Amino acid sequence: MGLSRRGFLKMTGAGVAGMALGRLGIDLTPVSAYAAGLKIDGCKEFISICPFCSCGCNTLVYSRDGKIISIEGDPDYPISDGGLCAKGASLKSLHTSPERLTKPLYRAPGSDKWEEKPWDWMMERIAARIKETRDRDFKEKNAAGQVVNRVESMFHLGSSQVSNEEAAVLHQMVRALGIVHFDHQARICHSSTVPALAESFGRGAMTNHYTDIGNADAILIMGSNCAEHHPMTFKWVIKAKEKGAVVMHVDPKFSRTSARSTFHVPIRSGTDIAFLGGMVKYILEKKKYFEQYMMEYTNASFIVGEKFSFTDGLFSGFDPKRKKYDKSAWAFEKDEAGLPKRDTTLKHPRCVYNLLKKHYDRYDTKTVSSVTGVSEKDILRVYEAYTATGRPDKAGTVIYALGWTQHSVGVQNIRLSAMVQLLLGNIGIAGGGINALRGEPNVQGTTDHALLYGYLPGYHNVPTADRPTLAEYLKAETPATKDPKSVNWWGNRPKYVVSLLKSWYGDNATKENDFCYSLVPKLDPGMDCSHLYIFDRMYKDQIKGGTIFGHNPAQSIPNTHKVRKALNSLDWLVMGDVFHNETTDNWHAPGFDPKNVKTEVFLLPSAYRAEKEGTISNSGRWHMWHYKAADPLGESRNMGEMFVEIMNRVRALYAKGGTFPDPILKQDFPETFDADAVAKKCNGWFTKDVTIGDKQFKKGQQVPGFAQLADDGSTVSLCWVYCGGYTEAGNLAKRRDLTQTPMQAKIAMFPGFAWAWPMNRRVLYNRASVDPNGKPYNPERVVIAWEDGKWVGDVPDGGAPPMAMEKGTYPFIMTTEGRSQLYGPGRADGPFPEHYEPAETPLSVNPFSKQMNNPCMKVIESNMDTLAKNADPRFPIVLTSYSLTEHWCSGSETRNGPALLEAEPQQYIEMSHELAKEKGIANGDVVDVESLRGTCQAVAMVTVRIRPFTVAGKTLHLVGMPFAFGWTKPKCGDSINRLTVSIGDPNTTIPEYKACLVNLRKAEKVTEL
Ligand code: SF4
Repeated sequence: MGLSRRGFLKMTGAGVAGMALGRLGIDLTPVSAYAAGLKIDGCKEFISICPFCSCGCNTLVYSRDGKIISIEGDPDYPISDGGLCAKGASLKSLHTSPERLTKPLYRAPGSDKWEEKPWDWMMERIAARIKETRDRDFKEKNAAGQVVNRVESMFHLGSSQVSNEEAAVLHQMVRALGIVHFDHQARICHSSTVPALAESFGRGAMTNHYTDIGNADAILIMGSNCAEHHPMTFKWVIKAKEKGAVVMHVDPKFSRTSARSTFHVPIRSGTDIAFLGGMVKYILEKKKYFEQYMMEYTNASFIVGEKFSFTDGLFSGFDPKRKKYDKSAWAFEKDEAGLPKRDTTLKHPRCVYNLLKKHYDRYDTKTVSSVTGVSEKDILRVYEAYTATGRPDKAGTVIYALGWTQHSVGVQNIRLSAMVQLLLGNIGIAGGGINALRGEPNVQGTTDHALLYGYLPGYHNVPTADRPTLAEYLKAETPATKDPKSVNWWGNRPKYVVSLLKSWYGDNATKENDFCYSLVPKLDPGMDCSHLYIFDRMYKDQIKGGTIFGHNPAQSIPNTHKVRKALNSLDWLVMGDVFHNETTDNWHAPGFDPKNVKTEVFLLPSAYRAEKEGTISNSGRWHMWHYKAADPLGESRNMGEMFVEIMNRVRALYAKGGTFPDPILKQDFPETFDADAVAKKCNGWFTKDVTIGDKQFKKGQQVPGFAQLADDGSTVSLCWVYCGGYTEAGNLAKRRDLTQTPMQAKIAMFPGFAWAWPMNRRVLYNRASVDPNGKPYNPERVVIAWEDGKWVGDVPDGGAPPMAMEKGTYPFIMTTEGRSQLYGPGRADGPFPEHYEPAETPLSVNPFSKQMNNPCMKVIESNMDTLAKNADPRFPIVLTSYSLTEHWCSGSETRNGPALLEAEPQQYIEMSHELAKEKGIANGDVVDVESLRGTCQAVAMVTVRIRPFTVAGKTLHLVGMPFAFGWTKPKCGDSINRLTVSIGDPNTTIPEYKACLVNLRKAEKVTEL
């Protein structure tokens, strides 16, 4: 009798009552008596997904008469085995909370109260405000006279809380309206991940997946406290440790992750590149690299052109006025055929291997120790343990989160870890990879669907004004190679872009009209419309109105003093959320008189996760369906319905006339929101009968995979990476099959559970787990193998034979050259990561060069943006931030959970005993924490978890505060972002949340909120 884990639990009485154990010959009397009293008697069971972290824990929701009775973990979810952390365990109380928004609320300009309004009234007024603003401010051309067809005075923010299907219709709506100020949480949590991993391997996603962490021999956790912030991840860390893995936690403070690791190494926030740069030096000097992997699968042997140089902190090609590099100075030297020249002897002074060696030669252990505050002994302990995985039979994995991403060098932090992994041969293998622990529940999916100003769904750069035709756009965006062994998969980009345009504009999109490419709004080249710039332009009165769904920027964006002022300068603001938060209620925030706030505010009550259906994608790219278990509370609605209704009301208005109506009226937009229908379209279908090879497909038939998408208008697909997930075989995101072959079971692959993009491939770049003849490097942990002329195991990352064989191809199919990139010439701030101090630094000298900070970092300038000078004596302490197990992100949801709030009730600041003594602060004192941007109060938590660092020969203090609190509740302490800086990484403009300078003192008076 085959039983799933959940089935077994049901059978034993822990699930739905009434299942007969008598069939198993067990005396049922006591169980039946117990089961009869279960609160879930008569309930229906639905599978849903926790709406918090990207572990995506599946839940079982029990509802009766449309109401939620109970929510518990799903034992069949392979990642959690039915476990839930504190947040997941509180889901029922959050879904049924009396604090939920249940009616549409309106706040008139200058009013001091909310008014309940009917949905119809709200929707009509919202559509009118959108049209009025668009008609007034629509810009056909930019200052250079190029056609741009955009609106700059409107914005949209959010949300990684939405499902993939909601994201797809939202993206379509935003582009149709011509909005370019468009961003969501991915910008502020993991935007640096995508360009870092894409530059290194070809794709921007986590390479492996959660259950695979259990296969590692060494685990390096840096910039993450996953035991507390991604708890189900840590389960797999512990599994690996129990099998003998060494677990290293390199992080500023001691936490639960440190406590369960083999050892913890405290590091000064903002010095990860120094630490990892030293590891690269160690690998190269001690020959710890995996030689065949490095030679065959990376660009170590490529020769860089003569224009490349690096002098005292700056690469060649730097323009100090524009603070930008001319990246052509970093190009590879090419042969007559246009291919990069290689030196497989590694003797050429400009081959990547030698440049790498030279670059990191300065990163000796002594200097690294002096900069990072890590003792030389601890540095070597990590280097030795981790680099021991540079062998075919060993696997090391890197786990990181916001501790790496949120820096002015965020992209390069991750790039350097990717380089370490490539040198050690740790990419593509079981137990290896870079496990980027994405933040919000569906931030992977909403990044794939590009709720970001700079991308179209599926990772295509947004068109710019200097590419007025589709042909020009595709020519510039589609890489080409003459190397027959390089797959260069991005060479297929035209098929994906055309299929996207075809799905947006339907029959109106034809080859003759460039598939309506001219209707897509264009950015000016280099235009930055991310969060920091949105709020800067709002503050400068250039943005007049907009929409925010499932996002709380008045709490979560740096320098919230400015953000809050900016929001209260708007003419109108539409928000959709589950609870009140600092943004919904900003018009009466401390320091503002509602009478003076002219903003017309529309607050739309949103359905919560278990009240709607759709898919989310966890961090490991598992694409999973969740079912609607209960009716939305009160009058709340799911966001997909809201987007579709708003857009359709706007369309109705434009049908009667308005400015440049074509992008709105020519859309193939749904009349009502149906998650299943949108999921089908994300995959895509054929628009006519076609024959591909020896196969025939009928019009309307689902496309079996993205290899069948075409650039002639014969296919639609809203997001090519999801093509293959909803085929004629059905919606594969709904799969719950836990069966595995022995080979798959050995590495916990679970290929039948849900579906993973791309094409159900569980480990990206898995062709690098085998040698050039297709033989697994590690026969004990096989991901794929070439056997009898075919691949077995995981879905191979490219179906061609292994690289050494006839018709064989290189394993990194997404890079132009087919090899992974140790040297990455595509990023804004250099082909090799270099240590620069954070924008605010306690040091006056950078020991590695004369260049103190990242020369290309984005500095926002306004009269409210300030930056402490280097080693500013007024602010000698480094402040870093972090999450909590009990609260999620800005805390706007979890602060409404009584149990969660009881466990973590207030803003606090962790500091060492030494600092507390120096400042005369005792445990429990209320403290004023001050930066150049402002002050925030917090309760002192004096602890040994944070210790003073010795940096550059001096004692340096670091303090930490959680980022989950705000003024609305609880009434103690405001957001840490009253202190943080508006500085962005040059590649993504992710803000530097993790290191700014503060001072602190015991508060004389506790501020009432
Ligand atoms: S917050 Fe994350 S670890 Fe906790 S229950 Fe939800 S998905 Fe699982």
